[in-house]
Amino acid sequence: MDKSRIATTVVQRLRQQYPDAQCTLDFQEPWQLLVAAILSAQCTDARVNLITPGLFSRYSTLDSLAQADLADVEQLIRSCGLFRTKARAILGSATRLVTDFNGTLPPDREALMSLPGVGRKIANLLLGDCFGIPAIVVDTHCARVSALIGLTRQTLPLAVEKDLAEVLRPEDWIAYGHLMVSHGRAICVARKPDCPGCPLQNICQHALRR
Ligand code: SF4
Repeated sequence: MDKSRIATTVVQRLRQQYPDAQCTLDFQEPWQLLVAAILSAQCTDARVNLITPGLFSRYSTLDSLAQADLADVEQLIRSCGLFRTKARAILGSATRLVTDFNGTLPPDREALMSLPGVGRKIANLLLGDCFGIPAIVVDTHCARVSALIGLTRQTLPLAVEKDLAEVLRPEDWIAYGHLMVSHGRAICVARKPDCPGCPLQNICQHALRR
């Protein structure tokens, strides 16, 4: 089976395995996903989801967040690692969105990556989950599981993304990232993948080599 067939089959089987796979960061509006994604660096999504209700309750609009006091935001996100850096990035991004983008998230990767605290991974997440624009989010789960399956030999996120873009159908790009996270947490866990219980066992290079 060639890699494109394998990639399509992976998506089909994982959609069946995880029919509810979606972004695990809680948000109501696009700017809130931006904030949650900045907070999620080196922090679990579960912890971010404990922090954001208080933050979004205090600052319920992008305008109010852009005018927030840095020390107050630091206090609200204190239980998250790197909270000082993240607070600066959140306020910087909110201010840029208000002043340069009319208070809305731009549906454009380069523009998103010009915001403080936003790299390609967050930009791709926002493109997919806020605008439905095909983009592949390569996080640690996605890079690790994709390599085990045999869809890439690369380790750098951009190189992994390029490999995946060559074999995945664009209509599967958004779902693929979410499916990789679900699979990496439930079955293909880093410390010991449960290959006998995995629906990809007969097409996964790691399992076939064993
Ligand atoms: S067969 Fe094993 S290594 Fe391959 S994706 Fe499934 S759990 Fe991971």
